[in-house]
Amino acid sequence: MSTAGKVIRCKAAVAWESNKPLVMEDIEVAPPQANEVRIKIVATAVCHSDLYQLFENKHEVGFPTVLGHEAAGIVESVGPGVTEYRPGDHVIPLFISQCRECRFCKSPKTNQCDKGWANAGRHNAMAPLESRLTCKGKKVLQFLGTGTFSEYTVVNQVAVAKIDPAAPLDKVCLIGCGICTGYGAAVNTAKVKPGSTCAVFGLGAVGLAAVMGCQAAGAKRIIAVDINPEKAEKAKVFGATDFVNPKDHSKPISQVLSEMTDGGVDFSLECVGNVGVMRSALESCVKGWGVSVIVGVNIMEEISARPLMLIAGRTWKGSLFGGFKGKDGVAKMVEAYMDKKLKVDEFITHNMTLDQVNDAIELMKEGKCIRTVLNVSPK
Ligand code: NAD
Ligand code: ZN
Repeated sequence: MSTAGKVIRCKAAVAWESNKPLVMEDIEVAPPQANEVRIKIVATAVCHSDLYQLFENKHEVGFPTVLGHEAAGIVESVGPGVTEYRPGDHVIPLFISQCRECRFCKSPKTNQCDKGWANAGRHNAMAPLESRLTCKGKKVLQFLGTGTFSEYTVVNQVAVAKIDPAAPLDKVCLIGCGICTGYGAAVNTAKVKPGSTCAVFGLGAVGLAAVMGCQAAGAKRIIAVDINPEKAEKAKVFGATDFVNPKDHSKPISQVLSEMTDGGVDFSLECVGNVGVMRSALESCVKGWGVSVIVGVNIMEEISARPLMLIAGRTWKGSLFGGFKGKDGVAKMVEAYMDKKLKVDEFITHNMTLDQVNDAIELMKEGKCIRTVLNVSPK
């Protein structure tokens, strides 16, 4: 029986408050309104940004919320005015929308569309006001405008990418955040050059995807940096040539890297979200032309550095979703995976079900996984 036009009652993992385990609840998912798409989530993975919102983000109100933003699913129904999608389409929800009409979409310089729930105007991206979810009579927010730790969710049509129906949803869900973020930070934001030397700080899925991006861009040396020695092996799979654990050295890591590279790396990428590491990543760059990209999320603290670092010719930049425009970037990356030009399966260390989401969160907290994919609904 068709569910179109009706409220769907289904399971979701609700974060009622910060620092507490998620609770599996029966929620209501409203029918899509004008220009909206309701999606049956097939698979979703856990990203550190979900943990950031749950445990570290002290500024945020943002609760109750359904976390999760790295997912793939199938369109269940569409609201009035939706022509680009139809029920049955395979899709990836986007926290970086692409309306193709705003000044940001029209510029090739950025991916920061102004129209999605998460990014519109001065809206709080972590807790946009728009939501189609309720539980026990309360509105439940959709983290980053997506909210994918749920059997169903609703997004605006500007915040969804149509993908090849042959792509395995329980793999390509990772393209919805971590893989595009890291890969694009290297290729689109840093613009890593052939023959260059790179350093990637933090080897979760985001950092490993950055390593993969550096390799794809032709870097000759890629130094992977992490305080967890267990990440070394995985980094090699994605193209790292060296692994350095800052804990093995008494000198600052920037000095270690500078000595290894005759004065500093050409490109560094911070994929941790730690302001001290951001500074180290900048200081690890060579003077004259070094470029350091901040990818890790931190909305609580401030960065600092000596101005001479920049005066001497280094560039400090940030990257959101790897600079990829949402719809175009995701479709292109799924295609690259299907053409065997992009690694995705190698990021997946665990498979679980949605009701095991707290175990998946715990694994990431303890540094024991790269990505855990939660199977939400059977196809
Ligand atoms: P993760 O937890 O899987 O990986 C983080 C890694 O950093 C771990 O391997 C950890 O051991 C390492 N680390 C911790 N402290 C370190 C230190 N001092 N020096 C070196 N390494 C250290 O996380 P993830 O899912 O890969 O996400 C990484 C970061 O990227 C998070 O901050 C996340 O919020 C952010 N992120 C940003 C965007 C964006 O668009 N900019 C998108 C997604 C995620
Ligand atoms: Zn993410």
